[in-house]
Amino acid sequence: MTSAVVVGAGVLGACVGYHLARAGVRVVVVERARPACGTSGATFAADVTHLKTPYAYYLLNRQGSDEHRRLGEELDGPAWRHPAPLLQWAEGEEAQQALRAQALRVRGWGHDCRLVPPSLLRELAPAVDPAACRADEVVVNDSTAWFDAPGLVRTLLDAAVRLGGVETHFGAAVTGLVRAGGRIAGVVAGERSWDADVVVNCAGPGADRIAALAGVRLPLRRVPGLVTESEPLPGRPLTAIVAAPGIDLRPTRGGGVLALSWDVDARLNGSVDGLPQELHRRARVVVPGLARTRIEDARIGVRPVPSDGLPLVGEAAGAPGLYHLVSHSAVTLAPVLGRLAAQEIGTGRPAPELAAYRPDRAVDGDVHDANLRAMNRRAVNGRRPHPQDPQDPQAEL
Ligand SMILES: Cc1cc2nc3c(=O)[nH]c(=O)nc-3n(C[C@H](O)[C@H](O)[C@H](O)COP(=O)(O)OP(=O)(O)OC[C@H]3O[C@@H](n4cnc5c(N)ncnc54)[C@H](O)[C@@H]3O)c2cc1C
Repeated sequence: MTSAVVVGAGVLGACVGYHLARAGVRVVVVERARPACGTSGATFAADVTHLKTPYAYYLLNRQGSDEHRRLGEELDGPAWRHPAPLLQWAEGEEAQQALRAQALRVRGWGHDCRLVPPSLLRELAPAVDPAACRADEVVVNDSTAWFDAPGLVRTLLDAAVRLGGVETHFGAAVTGLVRAGGRIAGVVAGERSWDADVVVNCAGPGADRIAALAGVRLPLRRVPGLVTESEPLPGRPLTAIVAAPGIDLRPTRGGGVLALSWDVDARLNGSVDGLPQELHRRARVVVPGLARTRIEDARIGVRPVPSDGLPLVGEAAGAPGLYHLVSHSAVTLAPVLGRLAAQEIGTGRPAPELAAYRPDRAVDGDVHDANLRAMNRRAVNGRRPHPQDPQDPQAEL
């Protein structure tokens, strides 16, 4: 295989484009707006390996997490990867037991995590108010990180272009596919078209629409999420990623705090009125210094979620030449999925690690992600119908 068109310049498009270029494949990246303008620009972007089941999928995420470091070494330092411990606690007996069971399960799988008394919060995250934690124990995931996803996209696209043989076309929305000899053999974007041996569908929450152009149905849902970014914290910065009841927090590059709440996301139904303020209020309970900050930015990203929560990777029956690369938690997974996908596209040899994620698999209805399961339960309990399908999947506030 000597040429590929990659549709979409988010984390997955950038990773697969970089690895294809490294393998000597001629690559054209076609992006409808600009790099990282989709979900990769409006994401919480923490290492979420500890949430994943079954074991094989947990391992794939761990490999993704490790490969951020390896990719960084290859590219003179992973400037996009920010190491920080991830602290979790729960509220109520049942939730605490579930969290403990999850921690023990992943620890049994070799995950670097421990259970500590809440008094250690002072040392682990001085910006956090220990009184916000009413649990008897805190789970500390020590080898985690949060990622500057747009930084990763920029770094990889620049590196791919430097390798040579790579063209990028921004502001070009793919509206059709080229067919030749019973295969998908290129893309059409308005007046322009690009031919290639393989088209790689990395359109994130729009991937099912690209697939539909070839008559393929991808089992994909769009699950919106809201993140707010605060002004820099006065005083002590936040030094950990925090998953507290009803609110997740992490540091930002500018010294502020990024907030996300699955409870709040379950209430996103078109109107966002008051929801950024609700996020900021919840965040202040855990990090009191936020009371002296304002919300600097609020964004809605749309999670591309395959029905069972697992990635969709490879060609689907009936449309050879169109290779899909779509996943939830793709910031964690991008380095490993991008590398493996490029390897099998380049060599034509299937990667055994990807066998469980083919787009034609039977989807069993189970959802392999603790957060997504919890959100589904809340939706079933009557807050809103789920999944949600906003009119504009890349809507911004
Ligand atoms: C609120 C929130 C929190 C999250 N938290 C985490 C987390 O903590 N950890 C984690 O690992 N993941 C997390 N995720 C998920 C993660 O951000 C996504 O899985 C990932 O960003 C998807 O990347 P992508 O490259 O597949 O898609 P995108 O970043 O959306 O890129 C797709 C690109 O394709 C382009 N495109 C679409 N259609 C076309 C077309 N027709 N023609 C040309 N271009 C097109 C778009 O403009 C876009 O730039 C979160 C997501 C959200 C929304």
